[in-house]
Amino acid sequence: KALKSTYRETGRAGRDGRLSHCHLLFDSTTFYKIRSLSHSDGIDEYAMSKFLNQIFSSGNTMGCICSFPKESTSRKFDIKEEVLLTVLTQLEIGEEQYLHLLPQFSVTCTLYFHKTSPQLLADKDILLRSILNKSEMKDGSYVFEVPRVANDMRITMNEVFDRLQKLKFSGELSYELKDPAYCYMILKRPDDLNALSANLTKWLSEVENSKIRKLDAMFALAYYAVKGCKKTDGCSGSEHTPCIQKRIIDYFSKKEGTPDDDYCTPLRKSSTFLQSDIKVFLQSNSFAKFTPRAVARIMHGISSPAFPAATWAKNHFWGRYMEVDFPVVIEAAKAELVKFVGKGE
Ligand SMILES: [Zn+2]
Repeated sequence: KALKSTYRETGRAGRDGRLSHCHLLFDSTTFYKIRSLSHSDGIDEYAMSKFLNQIFSSGNTMGCICSFPKESTSRKFDIKEEVLLTVLTQLEIGEEQYLHLLPQFSVTCTLYFHKTSPQLLADKDILLRSILNKSEMKDGSYVFEVPRVANDMRITMNEVFDRLQKLKFSGELSYELKDPAYCYMILKRPDDLNALSANLTKWLSEVENSKIRKLDAMFALAYYAVKGCKKTDGCSGSEHTPCIQKRIIDYFSKKEGTPDDDYCTPLRKSSTFLQSDIKVFLQSNSFAKFTPRAVARIMHGISSPAFPAATWAKNHFWGRYMEVDFPVVIEAAKAELVKFVGKGE
């Protein structure tokens, strides 16, 4: 997908020292798809700031085990689970260490008692006492959040599970776990949450841009070999090894950050019907709350946690504007959303 990986893959042929041929099969639909998918991890600064607010919310005491369920949080902020983890990791290993990541656990536990009454058992077991304290009754069973009990007892979640396991073996109780969660401990609260979310958003978009640049370089190379080559470097017929080699060397000898001059992506920088189509889309889906990025993802056919393909791929506009550069679609969506919201109020 990037020049580096293609280069590496072509290197695999001919490793036995015998003559090999490399055929690069490529069409622009694949290019559009891969390029679209590169936009699936981006976060708006607004969503990032809400997410950071949750991570560092005042209920989360420093040095205590904090957690949030992966699935519902991902849907709430419309950020993929992997990207939530990327942000957490950056908060752990970035310039400042704001938190310490803990192993992932399912944090909601339901207890069923089989022999002795819960109260009687709790008299003899201080963990159970804490659990009963922190539990809610649901359909006759006790439901509690494992981190709350661990914090209350000042032990790790592993220790909580060990003790529960022992009680289970004695036949006294059984339990079920649900809600896989990311767990962490706050080490330091950021002084300026807004500055931090701006930085993280910028960092993520740089990662995204670098993916896009690599992809575009790959496209430009293939496009040149197929369409642009004047056969001045020793190419003949459909054999383009010389010009491709020359361009690969140029690519890797270029310093990081120097702008590539020979971009020729087939992406469109604008589209006549984009604006009016977005307007129609917003009018016919006025029940949903969109961000510009969410609209752009639907127009590009990119699935996201809050707007999954399972629901939205049936939509008339799904993936219709894949060939228009993503930021252009975001801008168009922004303009329409402003008008739309303005009208509604
Ligand atoms: Zn050539």
